[in-house]
Amino acid sequence: MSLKGKVAVVTGSNSGIGLGIAEALAAQGASVAINSFTDRPEDHALAARIADEHGVKAVYIPADMSNGAACRALIATAKEKLGSVDILVPNAGIQHVAPIDEFDPAMWDRLQSIILGSTFHTTAAALPIMRAAGWGRIVVIASAHGLTASPFKSAYVAAKHGQIGFVKVCALETAQEAITCNAVCPGYVLTPLVEAQIPDTMKQYNMDRETVIREILLQRQPSKQFATVEQLGGVVTFLCSPAAEQITGTAISVDGGWTAL
Ligand code: NAD
Repeated sequence: MSLKGKVAVVTGSNSGIGLGIAEALAAQGASVAINSFTDRPEDHALAARIADEHGVKAVYIPADMSNGAACRALIATAKEKLGSVDILVPNAGIQHVAPIDEFDPAMWDRLQSIILGSTFHTTAAALPIMRAAGWGRIVVIASAHGLTASPFKSAYVAAKHGQIGFVKVCALETAQEAITCNAVCPGYVLTPLVEAQIPDTMKQYNMDRETVIREILLQRQPSKQFATVEQLGGVVTFLCSPAAEQITGTAISVDGGWTAL
């Protein structure tokens, strides 16, 4: 399958899952705009490396996804620099863990803005561009926590469930156009964020690395294996392919069986 001639914007993509998805789309020939809130030489170097490795146009666009105007400006800048926005992957996310009655209200608002607000603002800005081009793919990176809950993650679980509701509405509003909107729901993925938790958890439980991974991190993931950024890139690429033209409004789990429990 080729995505040559298409332009993809992936939010929160200077590391982890977003970067993997940007690479997978570039590997199929799409031009890509990668993003985070920082504006460091290494961020721009990532875009240069993707451009070099895959022979596509790639730009890094700094924009803070907690700010609605910045979300919309990201889409406008991507169109200006790359000529279109055909594929949008709202991926930026943060986590904060606390019981509901102790949850910092400012952190609640920030998390909703970054996860749910940015999904709304980037989609709202991209839809007119997709409609003008007569084609579009929106793939929201939600979570197993968009379908099920865990204690102490109220803001995250609410935002991720909200993303899946938003995807359904967007799919209905675009159902008779060549635009689809879907959510991908990863279970645990071994990103630098998760990797960084392993040493402390080993100390906390006095367990070796393999036991921490199997018994603690992957406690609810029946396959006892992490999903990988490459697998998520493959699912997003599939959703952009002709085989997925009639797939819209769905939430596709990539969670080793977690939500089947
Ligand atoms: P990560 O921390 O590596 O990536 C998050 C990205 O979002 C980073 O690029 C970060 O810079 C960016 N970001 C954070 N705040 C931002 C802001 N205000 N503006 C712009 N960008 C911002 O984590 P990840 O694991 O790759 O997570 C990516 C997405 O996948 C998130 O939405 C997360 O909820 C979801 N997810 C992750 C897992 C997992 O196990 N890693 C599981 C399910 C869902």
